[in-house]
Order: sequence, then structure tokens, then C-alpha cells
Amino acid sequence: MLIDARNVTKAFGAFRAVDDASVSVEEGDILGLIGPNGAGKSTFFNCLTGDLPVTSGSVSFAGADVTRLPPEARAKLGLARTFQVPLTFESMSVLDNATIGALLRHHTAREARAKARDVLQRVGLGHVTDAPARSLGTPGRKRLEIARALASEPKALLLDEAMAGLTPTEVRDAIELVRRIHGDGITIVIVEHIMEVIVSLAQRVVVFHQGREIARGTPREVTSDPKVIEAYLGR
Ligand code: ADP
Ligand code: MG
Repeated sequence: MLIDARNVTKAFGAFRAVDDASVSVEEGDILGLIGPNGAGKSTFFNCLTGDLPVTSGSVSFAGADVTRLPPEARAKLGLARTFQVPLTFESMSVLDNATIGALLRHHTAREARAKARDVLQRVGLGHVTDAPARSLGTPGRKRLEIARALASEPKALLLDEAMAGLTPTEVRDAIELVRRIHGDGITIVIVEHIMEVIVSLAQRVVVFHQGREIARGTPREVTSDPKVIEAYLGR
């Protein structure tokens, strides 16, 4: 098991944004995590990465209990993520933004930049490395977010709505990109509202609603589950 979250609860005051969630991901999997807005998906990612401490429960990654490790230590073990709201340094170049991720593994700026160039090429941003990040549109930003994560040379990549705001053609290109990343041996957990993305990428899906798991199975199984349909209809 590459990622093993057990009985994870994250409370904000009396409100449980994630309530007793147990999710495990095997090496080489693409797991889809879906659920209506506010279901707790981003909060759960934050618990996996250490961006938020859990209220209770445990998280292990690559065989190590990381529950109390800070995000940098988990990243060093090979856990990378993208943020729903891209974490872009606007005035810095595309290359420098990607270099930030590479500095986790490479201690000279020269090596880190070489790694950053390599991942920018892989995500299709090889032609805009010197442009300021602010000049990128939504698809470019989403790709830069993925590049920054890949530059840290992860074993697992958590994608939080990395395709939101893209046109259908851009979504299809992004699906291809995720397939290539997976083909390079990276385990993927993908949060995405666009069902086509989940159906075409995920082998297994877990559905959250109000912080709790309400269903799991293949994309076909969960999307025809009455509990899931009801959750999406907002009852
Ligand atoms: P999702 O990503 O599934 O849309 P989130 O994990 O962002 O859901 O949010 C789950 C719930 O937790 C929402 O009701 C949200 O308002 C709440 N929440 C998220 N972060 C915080 C926070 N830092 N403080 C208080 N409530 C939060
Ligand atoms: Mg979210």
C-alpha cells in the first residue's frame, strides 16, 4: 500500500469536514475521489500531505507513518500534490516556478533548473519557460502546477481539480498528460468534478459526502449508485 489513511477525521471546531475516512491506494493505481462541493475532498488531501494536521486517525505513506510529519518531509518521501487554487508566483518566470519543486531533490540551482526544464517540456510548457507565470492562461497555470509537483520527483501525485476551467479539448489533452504521468510509474489520486475525466482515468473511485465515504467501486458502479446521485442532487 503506497498511501494508507485510516479513520482520518479533520474537525474545524465542532464541524467535521472529514469524518472517519479510510482510503488506501496501491502503488500504480489511479484512484478517483469525487463528491459534491464541500464534501471534504480538498481537506482530505490536506490531511494526506500534512498541509493540515488530522484531528484523529493516521496516514502512512510508502510504509512510514507520516501522521505527524510536516508537508516537506512527506514531499521528500515522494508525495506531491497540486492545489485547487494554483500556487503560482506571478512575477516569477514559469521556469523559476517549476524550479521550486525541483529544489526538494536538487541542491544546486543549476541541477534544479535542468530538472524544471525537463518537466516543463513534459507538460507542454517547454516553449514558455522564460515568460512570467502571470502571462499564462488557465490551462497553462494548471500545467505549471503539475510541473511543479512533478519536479519534486514524486511516487504519488494528488491532483485537486487540475482540470477545472478547461475547455473540452484542453480536458482531453490534460487526460492524456495524466495518462503519460501514470505511465511513468507515478501513482495518482484525482479529485475532479468532470465525470468524463474520472471515467476515463480512474480504476477505482471513492465518493465523499459531508466528510464521509458514501460509496466506492468502479466509475460505472459509483455513478449509477442511488446514494451518489442523491448526494449530487443536494439532499
Ligand atoms: P471539497 O474540496 O470537497 O469541495 P473542502 O474540503 O474544501 O471540500 O471543504 C469541506 C468543508 O470544510 C466545507 O464545508 C468547507 O467550508 C469546510 N472547510 C474547509 N476548510 C476549512 C477551514 N480551514 N476552516 C473551516 N472550515 C473549513
Ligand atoms: Mg476542493
